[in-house]
Amino acid sequence: MTTIQDVLKKVREYNQNADFKLIEKAYEVAAEAHKNDKRASGEPYIEHPLNVAYILAEFQMDDESICAALLHDVIEDANYDVNYIKKAFGADVALLVDGVTKITELKAKSREEYQAESLRKMLFATAKDIRVLIIKLCDKLHNMRTLGYLPREKQIRIAKEVMDVYAPLAYRLGIDKIKSELEDLAFKILEPEKYSEIEEKIKKNQKEREEEVEIIKKIVKNALKDAHIEAAIHGRAKDIYSIWRKMQRKERNFDEIYDVIGMRIITKSVKDCYEVLGLIHGMWKPIPRRFKDYIAMPKTNMYQSLHTIAITESGQIVEIQIRTAEMDRIAEEGVAAHWEYKDVKTDDSKFDKKLSWLKQIMDWQKSTTSPQEFVESVEVDFFGNEIYVFTPKGDVIELPSGSTVIDLAYAVHSNLGDRCTGAKINGTFSSIRTELKTGDVVEILTSKNQKPSRNWMKIAKTNKAKQKIRKHLQESGKMPVRRYHPVEAESEEISKNLIITEKYENPTIRLSKCCNPLPGEDIIGLKGKTNIITVHRQDCEALEKGRVVQKRVKSKWKNDYVGTVEVILETVDRVGLFADVLNTIAATGTNVQGANAKIISPDLAECRFALAIDDLEHLKDLINRVKRVQGVKKVYLGKI
Ligand code: MN
Repeated sequence: MTTIQDVLKKVREYNQNADFKLIEKAYEVAAEAHKNDKRASGEPYIEHPLNVAYILAEFQMDDESICAALLHDVIEDANYDVNYIKKAFGADVALLVDGVTKITELKAKSREEYQAESLRKMLFATAKDIRVLIIKLCDKLHNMRTLGYLPREKQIRIAKEVMDVYAPLAYRLGIDKIKSELEDLAFKILEPEKYSEIEEKIKKNQKEREEEVEIIKKIVKNALKDAHIEAAIHGRAKDIYSIWRKMQRKERNFDEIYDVIGMRIITKSVKDCYEVLGLIHGMWKPIPRRFKDYIAMPKTNMYQSLHTIAITESGQIVEIQIRTAEMDRIAEEGVAAHWEYKDVKTDDSKFDKKLSWLKQIMDWQKSTTSPQEFVESVEVDFFGNEIYVFTPKGDVIELPSGSTVIDLAYAVHSNLGDRCTGAKINGTFSSIRTELKTGDVVEILTSKNQKPSRNWMKIAKTNKAKQKIRKHLQESGKMPVRRYHPVEAESEEISKNLIITEKYENPTIRLSKCCNPLPGEDIIGLKGKTNIITVHRQDCEALEKGRVVQKRVKSKWKNDYVGTVEVILETVDRVGLFADVLNTIAATGTNVQGANAKIISPDLAECRFALAIDDLEHLKDLINRVKRVQGVKKVYLGKI
């Protein structure tokens, strides 16, 4: 049983000046509100809010969050009015309780939409205060810890929701402690047999493993001592779910995954992190391309650390994380680390820098930027390259970013696409070429007399829309069907570069400048009378206009390509951009064989990199990352 005294004691450990009276009052109000309620376990309901408050106190959260945790279910379960909470506890506590309640009230429209919609709505509902999400996660965590009393079907439903929504959210917020526990608890419910199988195996190997870890630790310890570096060394326990996921992802068995020893080295300074890294790499053989520098380039959830994997002299594989104590705290607690009560006002400037994206969320209300701008600033991190728009009925449609009204129309139905004349976006009339943004509510407008025109090919961004438009144009005779008949390759020959073509004697292969095909995109070659094949993207407009003398040549990217590739970037001319790009490339573990940059116009620069590429996936990943560097306008390949 957790009591209010336990909570108060926990808070006192880190904040002697907390408003203990207010916390006690919140407890009394909650206890009164839930006095007739019981949990599925038969315990008084108040146990739950007390435990949620206790978990938040473990994260050293401020008084307002603790009060809100105690009160988090009184609106939902006991019909208390938010204005009452505002009067009794202040606007901030009321805002937090209201935010948590709103998340609880979300009802999913359908399974597929669930994750996207929930995440999005949660973000919108809580953008005002990130503490709402932290409270909600602690609420979920306590529910998961005590799920055993519910019927099995309900357990499964909740566990799935945790895997789909809450664990990823905890990850996004960088709260690794909660993420790992949520995942393990959910996995235990969803896959009880696999869970206990792994649990058993860990127990069986424990002793042997601990001995091995001790030996390795000693070696590192001595090396650090000789180099006069002060650092703490910890072995790392692995979560059951993360072991299982690695087994799935890498198609390895338990022993292969578990054999790898995890080690964490906590240093006194950033400089020491790199020195320790040098020491490890000098002592053991690092595995190529597995080194990651998240200190120079923190993850979007603020995580910072150096990662490397090395093989010891005895052949043991060791995964090593190197970071400072502060970075370690952020790695475990993420966003929550920021809300810890601070007794002494310290210089926060360095910390603020790391939290820049988070601050954008929190400062949004205070600043003059529009909600739209705010969404744009966080959506990249939360949603990757997808945008989510709403139909007037509230259905969520997922589209690639950059999609226009016409893409949405075709995504809903091809009839709607063919007849689309425009849209009402958030109540404003907009043309079919308007680019959509996450959060837009879009009503497609149609006319019986509307028909797709060739121009639409340029407006559509998605392949689905383009295919449908092309089909319509072909059927109505506006676009000749297959003007060029592709000749089936008799035998595919692997040319010396990235592309496979039909059998030609030493063709010169060029990437077309008009559409700049990138690795992984669907491509096709055009060959004239000379022995030059120009490779275009399959959706390049030049193919429609192409001259009859050119023949289509089946082409595709070679998967196992190894060699040097020249990547060219067109960028704005900003200080530090070249270094940022180089860092980004270095973070993928790519060997840079050459690099230079020049100014090509008053505000544009061109950067060229010669890179050693291992395979197509590597090149694709690299290009995707480089594209995301701020200021990079265009990426294309030079020599291949
Ligand atoms: Mn609750």
